Amino acid sequence: MSNTYRRRPLPTILAALAAVGCLVAAGCSGSDDDEASTSTTSSSAATVDGKDALTPLIGSVTFPPVPFEGSDGKNHLVYELSVTNFTSGKVTIDGLKVLDAASGKTIDDLDAARLHQRVQPAGERDSTDHLDAGQSATIFLHVTLDKSATVPEKLVHEVAVTAEAAPPGKNSVTERLGATTVDKRTLPVLAAPLAGERYIAADGCCDASRHTRAILPVNGQTFVAQRYAIDYEQADEQNRIYVGNPTDPKSYFIFGKNVLASADGTVVGTRNDLPEQTPGTFPAGIGIDEADGNFVVLDIGDGFFINYAHMQPGSVKPKLGDKVKKGDILGLVGNTGNSVAPHLHFHVMNGPSPLAAQGLPYLNASFSVTGQVASTADFDAAEGTGIPLVLLPNRPTTKHTDQLIMDQNVVTFD
Ligand SMILES: [Zn+2]
Repeated sequence: MSNTYRRRPLPTILAALAAVGCLVAAGCSGSDDDEASTSTTSSSAATVDGKDALTPLIGSVTFPPVPFEGSDGKNHLVYELSVTNFTSGKVTIDGLKVLDAASGKTIDDLDAARLHQRVQPAGERDSTDHLDAGQSATIFLHVTLDKSATVPEKLVHEVAVTAEAAPPGKNSVTERLGATTVDKRTLPVLAAPLAGERYIAADGCCDASRHTRAILPVNGQTFVAQRYAIDYEQADEQNRIYVGNPTDPKSYFIFGKNVLASADGTVVGTRNDLPEQTPGTFPAGIGIDEADGNFVVLDIGDGFFINYAHMQPGSVKPKLGDKVKKGDILGLVGNTGNSVAPHLHFHVMNGPSPLAAQGLPYLNASFSVTGQVASTADFDAAEGTGIPLVLLPNRPTTKHTDQLIMDQNVVTFD
């Protein structure tokens, strides 16, 4: 792209942003004397004051949120807002409100500090407070609602930005974007994928989890197949994940445990030939086709698929096309593929491909929460060094049915 071409649209954009500044200034001042001016039904749901507006940031929700009840007894909406800075200058994202599109009521209000941890530029791992000219980002959102609160049918987002390319004094813009429905499909209630005590649901839903943020460009679009994934590990009575030689998979308490079918289903993907990796470091040179190690993908119907990953070589029992029953043994927990320590990676998605699918929530039929790991850093330390997990104090054991196990819960499956 030539410099001439790049520079030519600039005055147009500046003029447009000046217009945005005027519109917003009128709207923000509380003036309502524009009410009779033109507005269209197509734009009214996605603009601040019902009129068409030029917006420095454009955005959309790629995959509508699917609400679910978590083990904290609250309803959760987990989804991503894809945004692009459509101007020739830096745009700082100052705040974001999630609104019920029907009532206009704010259901979540993220100030700059909360928001900036959730803005991840395309191709980068670290979060940011701004987007450079033309830059795209994903805003990872997680709305938590009390059980008594109504879950909206549709959402829209009100974003406050500061646009460098706008004329001085008119840089602050409040805009609406990313209107989306809320997908209230019926969720499957799944049996436990493991049996026994003190399983830790690591990197679970729904905030800075490495799974929830694992957005991947696949086949020309983005997917978050692991949006609700859990890496299960297991602790002993002293809350240790392993004892002994950390490079021996057998030192880890979860190694060799039976992996169980959580529902009746048909095997639509599997592998059984990949070697055990040495725990302690991620293996080098693992391609995406080997990342899950030895795995089973089960089609459990109604558009839900379960992925079980990293099982021991030769342990995977069903073959492609086999039908399995809830509770059947699928294989043994191992450390194959892209894995730093023996664990069961478990996630539910909307298609058979563990990469080119969107993660879906589900409900765990029955479990007890016997503890809560204080933080992901505490989990990583226990996994990496063998020290006991740091658990939050004075957490009573609680019984749960039909809820999703949340991040760093320590659970017993009956
Ligand atoms: Zn995982």
